[in-house]
Amino acid sequence: MHSDMPKAYEPQKVEQNWYKLWLEKGYFTPKIDPEKKPFVIIMPPPNVTGELHIGHALTATLEDIMVRWHRMRGEPTLWLPGIDHAGIAAQVVVEQKLAEQGLDRHKLGREKFLERMKQWAEQCRRTIAEQHQRLGVSCDWSREKFTLDEGPSLAVRTAFVRLYDKGLIYRGERIINWCPRCATALSDLEVEHKDIQGHLYYVKYPLAENDGFITVATTRPETILGDTAVAVNPKDKRFKAMVGKKVILPAVKRVIPIIADNAVDPEFGTGAVKITPAHDPVDFEIAQRQGLELVNILNPDTTMNENAGKYAGLDRFDCRQAILADLEKEGLLVKIEPYTHSVGHCDRCQVIIEPLASRQWFIKAQPLAKAAIKVVKDGRIAIIPERFTKVYLNWLENIRDWCISRQLWWGHRIPVWYCQDCNELTVSVEKPQACQKCGSSNIEQDPDVLDTWFSSALWTHSTLGWPGDSEELRYFYPTTVMETGYDILFFWVARMIMMGLEDTGDIPFETVYLHGLVRDEKGEKMSKLRGNVLNPLDTLKVYGTDAMRFALTTDVSPGNDLKLTKPRLEGGRNFANKLWNATRFVVRSIEPEGADLKIERDKLPVEDRWILSRLSRTTATVTRLMADFQFGEAQRQLHDFLWGEYCDWYVEFAKIRLRSGEAPSPLPVLVHVLEASLRLLHPCMPFVTEELWQNLKQRLPSDWQETESIMVADYPQADKKAIDPQAERVMESIIDIIHSVRNVRAQYKVESARWVKAQVYAGELTPAITPYSPAIETLARARPVTFLDSREALKGKNIVALVLKESEVIIPMASMVDLEAERKRLQKEIEETHTEVARLEARLKDRAFLSKAPAVVVDSERDKLAVRSEKLEKLKEQLTRFQA
Ligand SMILES: [Zn+2]
Ligand SMILES: [Zn+2]
Repeated sequence: MHSDMPKAYEPQKVEQNWYKLWLEKGYFTPKIDPEKKPFVIIMPPPNVTGELHIGHALTATLEDIMVRWHRMRGEPTLWLPGIDHAGIAAQVVVEQKLAEQGLDRHKLGREKFLERMKQWAEQCRRTIAEQHQRLGVSCDWSREKFTLDEGPSLAVRTAFVRLYDKGLIYRGERIINWCPRCATALSDLEVEHKDIQGHLYYVKYPLAENDGFITVATTRPETILGDTAVAVNPKDKRFKAMVGKKVILPAVKRVIPIIADNAVDPEFGTGAVKITPAHDPVDFEIAQRQGLELVNILNPDTTMNENAGKYAGLDRFDCRQAILADLEKEGLLVKIEPYTHSVGHCDRCQVIIEPLASRQWFIKAQPLAKAAIKVVKDGRIAIIPERFTKVYLNWLENIRDWCISRQLWWGHRIPVWYCQDCNELTVSVEKPQACQKCGSSNIEQDPDVLDTWFSSALWTHSTLGWPGDSEELRYFYPTTVMETGYDILFFWVARMIMMGLEDTGDIPFETVYLHGLVRDEKGEKMSKLRGNVLNPLDTLKVYGTDAMRFALTTDVSPGNDLKLTKPRLEGGRNFANKLWNATRFVVRSIEPEGADLKIERDKLPVEDRWILSRLSRTTATVTRLMADFQFGEAQRQLHDFLWGEYCDWYVEFAKIRLRSGEAPSPLPVLVHVLEASLRLLHPCMPFVTEELWQNLKQRLPSDWQETESIMVADYPQADKKAIDPQAERVMESIIDIIHSVRNVRAQYKVESARWVKAQVYAGELTPAITPYSPAIETLARARPVTFLDSREALKGKNIVALVLKESEVIIPMASMVDLEAERKRLQKEIEETHTEVARLEARLKDRAFLSKAPAVVVDSERDKLAVRSEKLEKLKEQLTRFQA
């Protein structure tokens, strides 16, 4: 005897046991089979900082659905997990921890600081892995990678040296985004632009040769100190005579030229603009074209440096006030206008960033982008949904050189050594012993590290062993799908395509699947500030992991945001419970000894043929949807089939047959459909399906015992022979009849103990439906159910007539309610309403009332009369239906 299943599903009791078993059995690790094409996902590595959030839970769930599905289809399936060291974001966290202890990284020194970072990162990695395991993810933990591991680090150094040797990496002075708080360069994508209510300052620059002046407008007057020209548009007639003249820079009294450049917008300010090449990207380009000098006026902490003359040492904003005061005194400040403009802020710390000319390392992005554009245009890589293709191409077509150096300690150190003797640099994968030019051993490594997106860009091949030539790399690369949020299409996907192509000569993946953001029930983005954040671990403790996965993905469609709401989470939990109850019923119905579960096709009654046909169609639909990345719709179809057809109808019909003991038994079909459905649902809800499948399996004959776990069972295939349109038509009609009678009962509030009478006309389906009158009786609580030979017989008084798709049903009123009592009740209500109507009519005819009462009161009385009169008509009409 087998132990009975517990009454209710308790996810916490079973989930982690199954996970442990899957892990121990090694199901997550694929076997390389050269005969088969593998399915491969490299997980976008979460940042080592902190815990998983609901967006990670969505990513993990979607990838797990794909991976489990392909694995069950017999494909060697690799899902490789990893963690990103997260560069600046991680360093900020640890620096904050140090600050709490009164320490900072400079006091500790580079080596000790990195030691601390490593310890902390190790802890975070463990937490994130555990959290992922709670979500049921079936990734191959034996291949887990960290961006700072030796393998990926070697890939980073190798890629750097190769690009450098090809002339695609260079060191140069360019405008970068400088965060004074984080003391590092940032990529354009790490800068958040916010509209700020600032001012536009109009400042007179006196001409050097005579008494005239030219007025320029600026939002950052402190940058006047770094001006090296004033520029106007060559087509601007107002300034034609000025071009070529010189002006005296206020505050520092430097003489600078007035030049003409097409980049100047004549509409902005006065039409003449100041050029500060070291502190503005557009000015920098103008300076390059015009051969202007660069004057950097800022220290790395954004205090003013020695080039700022008497302002040196002031903070940038204090300097602004000081200069404005001086300009005012000299009568050079013409006017100040309020001005809203977009100002870049550091994505990490929200401090205003400073555009700064700085010596940094860059990647020449255009040649790499060209190849990345081609593979998407050629269709070698598909982006789902397709509309993001345009966004991708547009970004790459306008790409600028990518600043890859960061003034941080945490990350991949730039593999460049500077000779202290001959100034030459040595670029090398491994630490060189000596300068490659002069042989001096007096060399020092570049102190900076690489942008974290540099290592991310290599992630699809560096995790598989590149630059080595391993079997893994050859077998699993190119990978199959890159699944990620649309918000990091550029950060991540575009760079991986560029670097994948560059390093391996092949695309990194065939398909990019982009998911949307998770929002709350009001459609708002989840954020700590709004206090609407759902923590995935807390959520799965309350509802169960499968319920959370169900709620997260039930509405999911490529590229669209989705809502995670309480009713959805409850819906997921209810679905798991519904499956539990149905399985418990089936399990309890199986004979303990020698159950014969063979399906004898030619002897099956209509409901068996119907559910098998529906299973076949559902299997085909779900398979098509999964292949189309429509996971939300696939899950919805399975939910509707299992709940709305199997549990609600088939199980109910089977109960009647089991009670009557009639042959053939419904058990073989009950078991078959349930077992196959659990496998269909497994990728979406892995834990509850495993628990139920195991409970079912242990009661089945020995040929069922070979497969140890549902996760390595075959994914069901649609059985075309099972499609039976006639059975579907008959069953749908029967369900329709039962359904309509139930609705009418609810509408007339018929007590549940009361049996109603029903007459059915089903035309040509009558012979097929008639045998089901006992089932209709039981399920609709209608007795007797009589079948009519012709539509003529349907007529009558005091009836409710229902016209259905394939049939018509009549229910005599008298069988639902006590006619006499109902008549009396209606008559009484008519009388009361009539009195009320008469009173209102009288009042509205009363001249005294009409002349004294305020208009609103009169209107209100009129409204009341209209409502009451309408009610009276309806009551009278209802009464006619109860006439004898
Ligand atoms: Zn910052
Ligand atoms: Zn040297």
